[in-house]
Amino acid sequence: MRVLVIGAGVFGAAAAVELRRRGHEVSLIDAGSAPHPDAASTDISKVVRLDYATDLFYTGLMEQAMPRWRQYNERWDRPLFHETGFVVLRSVAMEAGEFEHDSFTTLTARGHELERLDAESLGQRFPAWRADAYCDGYYNPQGGWAESAEVVAALIAEGTEGGVRVQSDSPVASFIEKGSRVCGVQLASGQRYEADCVVVACGAWTCKLLPGLASLLSVVGQPVVHFRPPEPGRFMPPDFVPWAADIAAKGWYGFCDNGQGIVKVAHHGPGVPCDAAGERSVPEAFAARVRDFTHRSLPALVDAPIVAHRLCLYCDSADGDFIIDRDPGREGLVVAAGGSGHGFKFMPILGDLIADVVEGGESLSRFAWRTESNTQRLTDAARCTRESHRVD
Ligand SMILES: Cc1cc2nc3c(=O)[nH]c(=O)nc-3n(C[C@H](O)[C@H](O)[C@H](O)COP(=O)(O)OP(=O)(O)OC[C@H]3O[C@@H](n4cnc5c(N)ncnc54)[C@H](O)[C@@H]3O)c2cc1C
Repeated sequence: MRVLVIGAGVFGAAAAVELRRRGHEVSLIDAGSAPHPDAASTDISKVVRLDYATDLFYTGLMEQAMPRWRQYNERWDRPLFHETGFVVLRSVAMEAGEFEHDSFTTLTARGHELERLDAESLGQRFPAWRADAYCDGYYNPQGGWAESAEVVAALIAEGTEGGVRVQSDSPVASFIEKGSRVCGVQLASGQRYEADCVVVACGAWTCKLLPGLASLLSVVGQPVVHFRPPEPGRFMPPDFVPWAADIAAKGWYGFCDNGQGIVKVAHHGPGVPCDAAGERSVPEAFAARVRDFTHRSLPALVDAPIVAHRLCLYCDSADGDFIIDRDPGREGLVVAAGGSGHGFKFMPILGDLIADVVEGGESLSRFAWRTESNTQRLTDAARCTRESHRVD
């Protein structure tokens, strides 16, 4: 089959590699350099974790993905997944019904060995934290972080080596259609490509090509800042690992030193409504909020210079679930988008999920095609899940 994959973020790159591995003729087309620096996938780091509250669907998927991250590490020239573990902290006791408590009990019940933390053990184990600020939490030794931009570059390199035709700086402007069948794309340059299947994996830009999905997918900017602490050693594993601090209530999370002296702090919250094609800037008030957070939580970062910041775009689905399915109204069109702020960690299984759908297989039910009318139903069913891993 001739397959055009539009968008070389983690969804598109993983799909292209797997489709080629299965013997298809694959082109991977991106609007920018592939990897594109503005893509959600291409920040320096993403958290890779099993912790999904009571949501057994995502917990189960991550139980499949985690060993495959380790296998990827064996394949790559150097490990791009750093299994440092993941720390979840609370300034008040963990409570049933909240992300932290429910992740702890769900994972423990499934046989994962987690280490419960209190202020004393936090201070001993992870001394950069102000132990008096966090009285409860846990350490999960499974998980850590991935060098996300490097992972996408490695997938693109693997695809190229395997025979994927990668075309960068080539924005797709429209589809070539015959009746209700999509049979290719036209680039902004006017160049046309025909195919048996077109996979749209355009992240936050998806609705530019598919405005009919605008009732399901929305774009919000989420700020991240990069500190360069004068004493980077304090932020190295095992003394400091990727973390979530009151994530369910306040939205703070971050990373250890990335090996180049950068410590990233980010916020997972309502974000800033954005146009994917528009200007991006981190709200001015954010620097003060992040400084206030470090003052209360990570004193060694208080005076560290901020050397970079970025507004990264979530492509949020209304229910927080990805969409990986064929468009029932247009033969030959598959959508793989709606990462909803948590898609990167599934990299090792995304290629299979998307390739299965391209080949005519069933989508996983949570990733199936939705319309505005049935999204409300799913939203109600999934509300508990979404609220437990999102902060709105
Ligand atoms: C601040 C932030 C923090 C996050 N943290 C985490 C985390 O810690 N862990 C985690 O698992 N996930 C995290 N995520 C979510 C994760 O990054 C995304 O779910 C995932 O990267 C989305 O990948 P994608 O391939 O769908 O989109 P993208 O990576 O955005 O890629 C889309 C690609 O499509 C291309 N494109 C767009 N339009 C066109 C066109 N017309 N023609 C050709 N190409 C086009 C773009 O150039 C781009 O390269 C985070 C996201 C953000 C924004």
